Amino acid sequence: MPILVMKFGGTSVATLDRIRRAAKRVGVEVAKGYDVIVIVSAMAGKTNELVGLVEETSPLFDAREYDAVVSSGENVTAGLMALTLQEMDIPARSWQGWQVPLMTTSAHSAARIVDIPADNILRKFDEGMKVAVVAGFQGVSPEGRITTLGRGGSDTTAVAFAAAFDAERCDIYTDVDGVYTTDPRICEKARKLDKIAFEEMLELASLGAKVLQTRSVELAMRYNVKLRVLSSFEEQSDEAGTLVCDEEEIMELNAVSGVAHSRDEAKMTLISVADRPGIAAAIFMPLSEAGINVDMIVQNISEDGRTDMTFSCPTNQVARAEEALKKAKEAGEINFREIVTDSNVCKISVVGIGMRSHTGVAAKMFKALSDEGINIKVITTSEIKISVLIDRKYMELAVQALHDAFELDKAA
Ligand code: ASP
Ligand code: MG
Repeated sequence: MPILVMKFGGTSVATLDRIRRAAKRVGVEVAKGYDVIVIVSAMAGKTNELVGLVEETSPLFDAREYDAVVSSGENVTAGLMALTLQEMDIPARSWQGWQVPLMTTSAHSAARIVDIPADNILRKFDEGMKVAVVAGFQGVSPEGRITTLGRGGSDTTAVAFAAAFDAERCDIYTDVDGVYTTDPRICEKARKLDKIAFEEMLELASLGAKVLQTRSVELAMRYNVKLRVLSSFEEQSDEAGTLVCDEEEIMELNAVSGVAHSRDEAKMTLISVADRPGIAAAIFMPLSEAGINVDMIVQNISEDGRTDMTFSCPTNQVARAEEALKKAKEAGEINFREIVTDSNVCKISVVGIGMRSHTGVAAKMFKALSDEGINIKVITTSEIKISVLIDRKYMELAVQALHDAFELDKAA
């Protein structure tokens, strides 16, 4: 039998009623002849509640016990989903991570999947079981302790199962009906994409389009797992949602597929640092040790052996970044005249694999922004992405202007 993986996120299993609706969707696929592996998240809000309980009990908690507690939300939904399927006369049983076993590293709360032996579940399919309901987000370490994969980790569980079982597809059921050209809350012309390439999705996922955990997209790309994102709140056809797939499967490539934004960015500039070998390392080592997520980096041309170094990071890390830099200055590792911080910027990016073959994308982007009188503060580019920092107050305007300029409301 062909195997299908179906993953239901927290909002899709938030109540018994929603679990029933999800189970019906599973029933539709079983009726088509699939053996189905269902991956479930905890009921909406449950994981946050469990994290809260842990923190209240023990502020400096033992990460192994944290995992023991926060993984439990998924156990409940897995059991309830299996029961619901049984009530519908569909042979199903639940599996916790360790029962599969889904083997991970020992990095508690951020474990990586090492192996998913398929034998146990395949044997049950052979014996007539139609649905294996697996608790997402969790696994077992070489020491035999329960681990979790990091917040949002059920997506990664689902993709890993699809790869391990060579599934025909991995359907991710969530509360949005797909991946959009941009945030529909900001731009009413945002259009749902039928298909998006792995690489584009990776850029959009890491830019904050919170539909899929970034790691799950990386994994899907590595193992070429066809991923479909769709809503569990609507009646679905076979073409519903957005397919995240290899670029070969996308016929017409627009230069740009989507516009992403990241609201809470800050720009920091070190004025007048010595322009000598090792200076970038001396600046960015302490920042990395302080856990600062540095994103864009620009070094100005130098004058008289001094230069300015600009970088961006999340707004809520500015204080920590300043502290780390001042410490490095006091220790004599770097020397700068002052730090100039602008905490009122946002990042806007246009993303598209079509950029590899289309020219003039950057010029068009800059023209669209200048037509709106928006000043660009920092620019960076990669093969399939152009990002700019601008004043935060122009964020909505910039997204709308770029969406129009690249005609993203129209299909390719
Ligand atoms: N329940 C976990 C979380 O809220 C994992 C998941 O839903 O993907 O992060
Ligand atoms: Mg999620």
